[in-house]
Amino acid sequence: MDSEIYSKYEIIDAHAHIFPEKIAENATVNIGHFYDLPMESCGMSKQLIKSGDKIGVSEYLVCSTATTPHQISSINEFIARECGHNSSFYGLGTTHPRSENIEEDIKQIKTLGLHGVKLHPDFQKFDADSPEAFRIYEVIEGEMPLLIHCGDNRYEYSAPQKIANIHKNFPKLKLHAAHLGGYQRWDEAEECFTDFENVAFDISSSMAFLSKDNTRRLINKYGVENCFFGSDFPMWSHEEELERFLELGFSEQENRMILAENFRRFY
Ligand SMILES: [Zn+2]
Repeated sequence: MDSEIYSKYEIIDAHAHIFPEKIAENATVNIGHFYDLPMESCGMSKQLIKSGDKIGVSEYLVCSTATTPHQISSINEFIARECGHNSSFYGLGTTHPRSENIEEDIKQIKTLGLHGVKLHPDFQKFDADSPEAFRIYEVIEGEMPLLIHCGDNRYEYSAPQKIANIHKNFPKLKLHAAHLGGYQRWDEAEECFTDFENVAFDISSSMAFLSKDNTRRLINKYGVENCFFGSDFPMWSHEEELERFLELGFSEQENRMILAENFRRFY
C-alpha cells in the first residue's frame, strides 16, 4: 500500500494480544488452532511493533487473558512490564469470574497503572451475563473500561445477546465489545445492540469475513463515533487490515475518528 495514504492518519490499534516470549509461540499456535485460522505473526511485543510500524501505529491497546484464575496476577504483571518497556503500549489487565478475590485483582490492575480489564468468555469458559461474571462488572462499573471478546459459532459463552445484557445490567460500565459485537455472529449482534451509551466496538477480525456493505452497515448502525480500528494481533497483519478498512470508503473525518479519535475519547 502507498505509505502516503496512511501516513496522514494517526492510528491506534485498539485490540492487540501479547504473550511472554517463553510462551508466545505456543500461545499463538493454540489461538490459531482454537479459531482454525492462520496466524499472521507470533505474539511478542517486538513483533507487534514491527507489524504496526508498517502503517505507523502510534499506540496499542495490549492485553492477555487468564484462562485459569491462578494466572491472573502474573499476566497483569507481565502486561505492566511490557507497558513499562514500550511507551506506545496502553495496557489492560485481566481477572476471572472464578477468581478468589476479584477486588484484589482490580486493585492490582490499578496499582500497576493498567487502564481496564480484558475478558474472553470462550477461553475462560464463563457465561458473559452470569451471576459469577456480574461480580466483576460490579467492581469495575464506573471505575475502568471492560474489553470483552464477543461471539463464536461454537459457543454461547460470549453470544452477542449476553454481551448486550451486560450493558443492560451495568449501563455505566464502559463496554468495549470486540469484533463488531459478535465474531461469526454479526447478524445477531446487529439486532442485539440497540443503545450505545458507554458502548464501543472494535472492528478487528471482522472485515476479512464480512462484505464491505455489511461492515459499513454495522459500523453505521453502531455509530461511526463508537467504533475503533484494531488488529487482533497476532491474527492479522496491520497493513492488510488497514487496507480493508480504507476500502470501506468512509470520509476522511470518519476515518480519523475510527482510527484514533474515538479510542482517545473512550479510554
Ligand atoms: Zn482479544
